[in-house]
Amino acid sequence: MGTDSAVQRRVAGGVCYELTRGRVKNINLRVRPDGSVAVSAPRRVPLSQLDAFVAGRAAWIEQARVQALAAKEEDERPCAVSLEEALALFTQVSEEIYPLFERVLGGLRPVLKVRQMKTRWGVCVPAKRQITLNLRLAEKPRAAVEYVVLHEYAHFVRGDHSPAFWAEVERHMPDYKARRALLRARDGEAQG
Ligand SMILES: [Zn+2]
Repeated sequence: MGTDSAVQRRVAGGVCYELTRGRVKNINLRVRPDGSVAVSAPRRVPLSQLDAFVAGRAAWIEQARVQALAAKEEDERPCAVSLEEALALFTQVSEEIYPLFERVLGGLRPVLKVRQMKTRWGVCVPAKRQITLNLRLAEKPRAAVEYVVLHEYAHFVRGDHSPAFWAEVERHMPDYKARRALLRARDGEAQG
């Protein structure tokens, strides 16, 4: 890093941006999750060209900033459901799905956990016989909750996301795609 990491603040086309000069090959522009704008560029590119580059993308940057700030607000919004309420709901759904996988699990129920997660709705650790679900999942329609719980259970059959895994999901829940779509109302954050 050294002197390369020196940051310069500039304004172009009504956009404030932080400029870092370094050993990059091209001009890179990024809108950070907090809405700030970062540009990195090779030393040889003159400032006038960088300002023009940023100004020419002002409309796009503004749109990206609005989206970033809306996503940040959503992330920071307190969850309307408590951990206890979420666990109660997830346990109920899990009880409905468990019989489908009882044999694979050797007759032992998985351990259910709830926590806040940034990018995933659920995580399954077959080795620990454990399913962790995102607290915010509890705010979603029940059909979507059922899909995520079933998805995580299906990982006891297959740990990957291969066609065989999806076939396993579909076998138990033929309408899983429509249910999964309920999770993606805002953007492509759904994973698990
Ligand atoms: Zn998965």
